[in-house]
Amino acid sequence: MAQLILATYPPPLDPAQEQFLVSTIKDWTIQNGLTVRPPPNFVPEEAGQKGVLATNAPVTLFPSPFPKSCFEEARAVQTVYNELYAEISRDEKWLGEIMEELIDVDDFISNLWKVHLAVKKEGYVQKLSLGLFRSDYMVHTPPGSTAPSLKQVEFNTISSSFGGLSSRVTAMHTELLSSPPGFPISYPRHTLLDGKLPPENTAVETLSAGLAAAHTAYGSSKSSPSLPLCILFIVQENERNIFDQLALSTRLTNFHKIPVFRLKTSEILDRTSIPASNPSRPLVYTPPHSRSTPFEVTTVYLRSFYAPTDYKLDRDWAARTQLERSAAIKCPTVLNQLSGCKKVQQVLADPNRADHLARFLPGKDQATVARIRETFAPQYDLAPGGRGRELALNPETAANHVLKPQREGGGNNIYKTDIPEFLRSTPETEWKRWVLMELIQPPAEAKNIVLRSDGQVVSGNVVGELGIFGTILWSSDGEILHNKEGGWLMRTKGKESNEGGVAAGFSSLDSIVLY
Ligand code: ADP
Ligand code: MG
Repeated sequence: MAQLILATYPPPLDPAQEQFLVSTIKDWTIQNGLTVRPPPNFVPEEAGQKGVLATNAPVTLFPSPFPKSCFEEARAVQTVYNELYAEISRDEKWLGEIMEELIDVDDFISNLWKVHLAVKKEGYVQKLSLGLFRSDYMVHTPPGSTAPSLKQVEFNTISSSFGGLSSRVTAMHTELLSSPPGFPISYPRHTLLDGKLPPENTAVETLSAGLAAAHTAYGSSKSSPSLPLCILFIVQENERNIFDQLALSTRLTNFHKIPVFRLKTSEILDRTSIPASNPSRPLVYTPPHSRSTPFEVTTVYLRSFYAPTDYKLDRDWAARTQLERSAAIKCPTVLNQLSGCKKVQQVLADPNRADHLARFLPGKDQATVARIRETFAPQYDLAPGGRGRELALNPETAANHVLKPQREGGGNNIYKTDIPEFLRSTPETEWKRWVLMELIQPPAEAKNIVLRSDGQVVSGNVVGELGIFGTILWSSDGEILHNKEGGWLMRTKGKESNEGGVAAGFSSLDSIVLY
């Protein structure tokens, strides 16, 4: 029954209806900051560089149907997931053993681990860590299954993005579904839309509240004389997704009344310092536009430093080390960033390894631990003689898998039948860098229409990926000061595309209606 209704979604649009939706959405996105800086090649380089242009973020015309039971389950396990990754980050020995397997073959992981070791040697001065996490899922509907289930694609512990823009897509679809009020006619009628609105999306409130909790927990200034306090967003050069980030900083400034500054990675060493004479190591930031008013940074929020390309020079590693050794609360710390490695997710999911889940969640009953385990898809390492190696090298079984390296941000994976060939052309000593994951099988019949950032309208079969946001503030001695779930992200990609990142250009922002 549900299958039949889904197959007729979205309701067909005649040219006038499509024209109405597309032009309304074009205006709505600009009016409400559901925007990105224009993609390269869309406007002349010279115009783009002036920094005065923005265009709509890629968005779907319709919200996508999503099973209510899966949405509720994803929300229900989020605070447990928060705790799990806080606990893993606290267990330096366990994490270190996993990193050991990667350090010889992965320079990026090795350099991150070195930052941790350097700061550990000197001694950390901040016991608190902040996580702004996003757990990503797909709906799994293998042939013969009676009900859809929820499977995790990955867990993000650094730069978990799109809380800002996803709230706005939810607002846009909500407005379209109820417009005009009392006589909604923006969309043609369809059972899945009848009387429906997307669920509330509190991503901006939740993520900002997490940052505000860290800011408060930092306490008073450690400088003498004392300095005004601020939060610092560390950002990439030429960030196109800036309006997503500004949604959080604006909320922090206007609602929480906390000063927020944005600082590019390349400017960290020029604009921040740690007074050598102060053993508390406060991180002092001097805004270039107000050099007489230095601030002390309570919380460093990284929207950069998650990819090797964010570290072009040795200087960038020195900058990361400066942040890490300071008294500012890091979101995330190096250890927390490393806990989000695909390798960690594979080890957690490995049924042949000791039951790490139960060990990291000692206070949780078996049923709760089982619910987390239920969200895992099978994952393998490529050890000699192991099942993963066998599945990856056989083209028939490889076709049902994805090969992932220890990277974030999209565009790094090897898919399906490309896997055997890729491995054969890679020295065997480097296979440790990769984990093999079984493909999740999303509903086949889903369709939607996308308005891309370059104005093109594309329709077709799609695959959705739901992210649930969570925030947690914890102390190295195990105390949890703040642990919340709230807000979500729906991303929709063309079915023929393996990858899914919005910023990487593969997918678009969407919202959901539950069925
Ligand atoms: P990244 O850190 O680069 O975002 P992901 O693990 O999220 O890496 O993989 C990127 C994309 O690949 C996902 O958004 C999803 O579209 C696809 N993908 C990853 N793992 C799976 C899987 N097990 N089944 C189906 N698709 C997957
Ligand atoms: Mg991802």
